[in-house]
Amino acid sequence: LDVRGSNVKYTDEAIESTYDYTTTRVVMTEAAGGAAAAAASGPTVRVEPVTTRMTIRTERKVPKVGVMMVGWGGNNGSTVTASLLAHKMGTTWRSRTGLHKPDFFGSVTQASTIRVGADAASGRDVYVPMTSVVPMLDPTEVVIGGWDISSADLGASMERAAVLPYDLQRQLRPAMDELRPLPSIFEPDWIAANQADRADNVLPGTKRERLDAVRADIRGFKEANGLDKVIVLWTANTERFSEVAAGLNDTAAALLASIDAGAEEVSPSTLFAVASILEGCTYINGSPQNTFVPGVVQLASEKGVFIAGDDFKSGQTKLKSVLVDFLVSAGIKPRSIVSYNHLGNNDGRNLSAPKTFRSKEISKSNVVDDMVSSNRLLYAEGEHPDHTVVIKYVPHVGDSKRAMDEYSSDIFMGGENTLVIHNTCEDSLLAAPLIIDLFVLAELCERVTIRRDGEAAPHRLHPVLSLLSYMLKAPMVPPGTPVVNSLFRQREAIGNFLRACVGLAPESHMQLEHRFH
Ligand code: NAD
Repeated sequence: LDVRGSNVKYTDEAIESTYDYTTTRVVMTEAAGGAAAAAASGPTVRVEPVTTRMTIRTERKVPKVGVMMVGWGGNNGSTVTASLLAHKMGTTWRSRTGLHKPDFFGSVTQASTIRVGADAASGRDVYVPMTSVVPMLDPTEVVIGGWDISSADLGASMERAAVLPYDLQRQLRPAMDELRPLPSIFEPDWIAANQADRADNVLPGTKRERLDAVRADIRGFKEANGLDKVIVLWTANTERFSEVAAGLNDTAAALLASIDAGAEEVSPSTLFAVASILEGCTYINGSPQNTFVPGVVQLASEKGVFIAGDDFKSGQTKLKSVLVDFLVSAGIKPRSIVSYNHLGNNDGRNLSAPKTFRSKEISKSNVVDDMVSSNRLLYAEGEHPDHTVVIKYVPHVGDSKRAMDEYSSDIFMGGENTLVIHNTCEDSLLAAPLIIDLFVLAELCERVTIRRDGEAAPHRLHPVLSLLSYMLKAPMVPPGTPVVNSLFRQREAIGNFLRACVGLAPESHMQLEHRFH
């Protein structure tokens, strides 16, 4: 993309855009006439437009990046690895329907576009690949590695996952067999008991010793592959929730002391997050558990390292965050949302234990909150649709997850509308492109700084990287800021952020230029 404008400057090192960020300041005041009037008409909403001039700087040099996955030998880990290898090797494969070549379908960074405007000659809309707006990591250039409690090499893991077609597996197998996961931190209490039989690749020692071993692994991987940076991503089993308590993990100091003391309630995933942060590496959590206890968030903040989570937003929840947004913004009132899933992969097996299911249930349950609370004409304060989530393990269906959802809504004049959706999809083929997007966008965010006019020094983005929310079911946001679940708002946030990096105004969809008489 070649942006010409007095507000954007391309140098060898960076793209610098001078950007007027326009937002609003809102003040809620009681209506004149006191409490009785306020009760009748509601508070007065006073809104002032506010414009802040900023300089957004994006470094142009894309570094050499390694991605280390925790749970590398799982369905997601092996599918990401195999698909990137297939891209790199240009592998094609045959099925009964013909010849196939690798694609990036389902990856917002690799397979979606951004509208830049209308063509001056024809008036037609022009879209460019998202990757062409600012320099982005090519996922096929990334060095992949990681840990797993199962010692199976990636070739055997890919076969065990039973996700990719046989003809593709067959061709990738020799290269995949070369890849072996590092031993990992295994504590049986945190995941389902039925996982114990695959744990034959585990780190010995105390919590502190295992933390240090993981840190050494990250450094070793970086050195061995000549990497500029490493991103660590959890795609291992869902853990149970950990307790949050004062003196245990409520501050960074308490958490580090608890690790030294070998406190039971510090989960393996929290140890990975701490190791990653201490090594200065962005850490992304693709599972629902509360890895990011307050002590982790504080540590990330102190060290200026990005963290993002929780739980990949792949299938049922992604659709929910579209459908409920549509209903509520259309003035239709969803009254009940009932979601059944069954799946037969190892994730489903692990989630068949009540304590790990509970983590997933919590993660799936808050996803409509922002949409519901956006419309007080439909929902009174505190009112919420009934929302139930059921997950069952059915081995026969393997990675092909079935999701059945029923949405019942109040419509005009006392009517009722019921939507029923049945969704069948290979779970890992939905999650793998999200993993790619997560590390591509996280890496980009590491190269962006923003300086407000009048400030001496630029800022990095907040350590809690909420821009990645689009890919996450229960998005973590900086303390005191709103959670956005609506998929379109999350998508627009990414697109408009990229536009801002090159000095373009946000996409307003007004198209006034086409509406004059
Ligand atoms: P999987 O069970 O196939 O893979 C998980 C891997 O993690 C296994 O190989 C297991 O041996 C390993 N593991 C477990 N504990 C570990 C530890 N402490 N250290 C290192 N490795 C460990 O599961 P999956 O289908 O690949 O899903 C991975 C995670 O992603 C799950 O938590 C799942 O809930 C989450 N998730 C998946 C999807 C999706 O696939 N569509 C969507 C949202 C969230």
